[in-house]
Amino acid sequence: MIREGDKVLLIDKRGKRYLVTVSEREFHTDLGILKLGELIGKEYGETIVSHRNEEFRVLKPDINDIIAKMKRGPQIVHPKDAGIILAYAGISPGDTVIEAGVGSGALTIFLANAVGPNGRVISYERREDFARIAQKNIELAGFSDRVTIKLKNIYEGIDEEHADHIVLDLPQPENVLPHAVEVLRPGGYFVAYTPCMNQVHRFFQAFQEYKEHFYKPRVVEVLVREQEVKKECMRPKTTMLAHTGYITFIRKL
Ligand code: SAM
Repeated sequence: MIREGDKVLLIDKRGKRYLVTVSEREFHTDLGILKLGELIGKEYGETIVSHRNEEFRVLKPDINDIIAKMKRGPQIVHPKDAGIILAYAGISPGDTVIEAGVGSGALTIFLANAVGPNGRVISYERREDFARIAQKNIELAGFSDRVTIKLKNIYEGIDEEHADHIVLDLPQPENVLPHAVEVLRPGGYFVAYTPCMNQVHRFFQAFQEYKEHFYKPRVVEVLVREQEVKKECMRPKTTMLAHTGYITFIRKL
């Protein structure tokens, strides 16, 4: 049952989505005004009607809805890349993950969702303005209980003594290798997301010094080709998100 203060997703007849917090206030849309107080006591899947008699379907938002609607600072990690990070590194409930940089907090939200209420995500960020945006987004997603943002340059060191995994989205992941060797548990993953091939190349040059500590590296790029599904024609969409980044996985021995 929906209660005051809950985050709710509303979907109109065109498929447009609205993320709202339930309270006794009005919410204006181009399809009419909604009295959000009418949501209290409803079940997810029911509808709410605007003063222009337009119906909005009421759903419980998931992390993708939150990420789509949240405020952004820097470029976020795309869900296709977050998915493979979670899957290939085997990030699981109860894990402790060290992350940097937090940026807008999108990858942090995926990690926090995967580690669950008994896990921890400790996210290093060197820019206060981005840390503030990410903190709000993490609160919006309901994960403040398991995420700690540290205003710190991770190249200078990791405070924590143990980590199950280290996940990086920053320009020079090779600078974190000496710290990772100290804190990563055997079997844990070091994951680096980098947009450019020359960053991957630079990483592997530095990696030569540390390679005896890690199981064989894996570098992937994820391409998702969406399909046009129409009655008269089913085919790949003519445009696609061609490139986001390369993802490097190395596993601690
Ligand atoms: N993964 C984030 C997301 O999905 O929202 C986006 C990360 S953004 C592309 C890169 C972030 O790394 C920036 O916020 C930047 O300030 C931070 N950063 C860069 N170098 C850093 C360092 N040495 N230590 C901590 N944060 C760093």
